[in-house]
Amino acid sequence: MANTELEKSVGIKNSQVEHPRETPLEINHEIECPRCYAMMSLCSDFDSLFYSCEECSFILYTIKKNYLP
Ligand SMILES: [Zn+2]
Repeated sequence: MANTELEKSVGIKNSQVEHPRETPLEINHEIECPRCYAMMSLCSDFDSLFYSCEECSFILYTIKKNYLP
C-alpha cells in the first residue's frame, strides 16, 4: 500500500532528526508497579538501571549499563 510506504519513510526521517542512533530505547522515568499499581520511580546504581516501588519494595531491573557475560 502506498500509504504504508509513505508513513515508513516519514517515520525514518523523524527518528534520524530527533534521536541519535546510540539511544537504544526510551526509558520511562515512572512506570506502574505490577504488584500494587503504585508508581515506581527509576533508580540507578553503578552498573544497572531499575525501578523501585516505595509501596511494596518491589524492584524491577531494566538494563545493565555494562553487560559482562
Ligand atoms: Zn508496588
